Amino acid sequence: MVKLDFHSSGRHFLQIPGPSPVPDRILRAMSLPTIDHRGPEFGALGLKVLAGLKQIFKTRHPVIVYPASGTGAWEAALTNTLSPRDHVLMYETGHFASLWQKMATRLGISTEFIAWQGADAELPAAPSWRRGVQAELIEARLRADAGQRIKAVCIVHNETSTGVTSDILPVRRAIDAAKHPALLMVDSISGLACVDYRHDEWGVDVTVSGSQKGLMLPPGMSFNAVSPRALEAMKSAQLPRAFFAWDEIIEMNKSGYWPYTPNTNLLYGLSEALDMLLEEGLDAVFQRHARWARGVRSAVAAWGLPIQCADPSVYSPVLTGVMTPSGVDADALRKLIYERFDLSLGTGLGKVKGRMFRIGHLGDSNELTLLAAVAGCEMGLRLAGIKLSASGVQAAMQVFSETQ
Ligand code: PLP
Repeated sequence: MVKLDFHSSGRHFLQIPGPSPVPDRILRAMSLPTIDHRGPEFGALGLKVLAGLKQIFKTRHPVIVYPASGTGAWEAALTNTLSPRDHVLMYETGHFASLWQKMATRLGISTEFIAWQGADAELPAAPSWRRGVQAELIEARLRADAGQRIKAVCIVHNETSTGVTSDILPVRRAIDAAKHPALLMVDSISGLACVDYRHDEWGVDVTVSGSQKGLMLPPGMSFNAVSPRALEAMKSAQLPRAFFAWDEIIEMNKSGYWPYTPNTNLLYGLSEALDMLLEEGLDAVFQRHARWARGVRSAVAAWGLPIQCADPSVYSPVLTGVMTPSGVDADALRKLIYERFDLSLGTGLGKVKGRMFRIGHLGDSNELTLLAAVAGCEMGLRLAGIKLSASGVQAAMQVFSETQ
């Protein structure tokens, strides 16, 4: 028998950057009885969540909901808009950007993966994994594309593997400045509902997102927000798609239903999450995450450890990547912290495996739970024999108690 609740007392600290801790209010909403997904109550629920999602993505256009993880919504974005051998420009910010690029290649798309090429003493093998998207690199590449072969530019808004939040508007401006017709596709799987995001205003054609981060839901649901240009591209896009095809879903969504069985109880949770976020107000939600991030970063600075993001102008409000001193295996440290303090931290992914751990500050958290998470990290760092410059807990307490 597998024991599902293995925590003997108190709550487990799920401090990974998603799935985020789910608020009790959402768990309660999800525990309602499952209803007929073709019955009258369901249509009202569908219409409500589809309208609410538009407010979160800041769009007047359709948002498509899939009973799939974020990876499914990545595939949907590509297959609904592109044809085999189409050429796309993707930007290497980290592990998730790399996975999206791999997927595009698997689908038969020709990809060009560009990255910032400067020097980085802490991470010489992957300098672009410490910085945001440089829009000027995109502009230069698009200007050089005289035949307009590039069909789309794909970037990750909040790179969950590194703790870097790239600015989207400069990318839009770069595409416009180059007078290039490429579609702009953005992965905001972990940015949405934690940090400001404006699908329409920023001229994004497809935004990909997921349930298990800023929306504070369990995993299993993902989204495509689509612009009129993306819908136009769909008409001639030749990549095979069936389950993920936008057209049938958009048609059925007009009455609040789906062409297949949607994940009813996650939609209850989504309805509650939308109420919570909109009641608080999106600006307040963004400020709350920014404040949490300031507190956590102040702790890391006090420890004297490098933050993975090397550019303070693109620090992520969602998570903080902490680099361990050379010779210290970050995964062994994470294991120690998990076993001693029942605290889960995010692992280093891909090129930064073993070099860093990630502290998520999203979902059902508050200043006191974050202080406890920082305390768990601090105790673990000391137990691992890492010399710290000062107490991170003290530093974070100062941020939380002395600022509003
Ligand atoms: N993109 C980003 C930025 C992510 O953080 C994740 C997952 O953490 C994904 C894509 C993949 O989403 P999923 O694991 O839900 O398929």
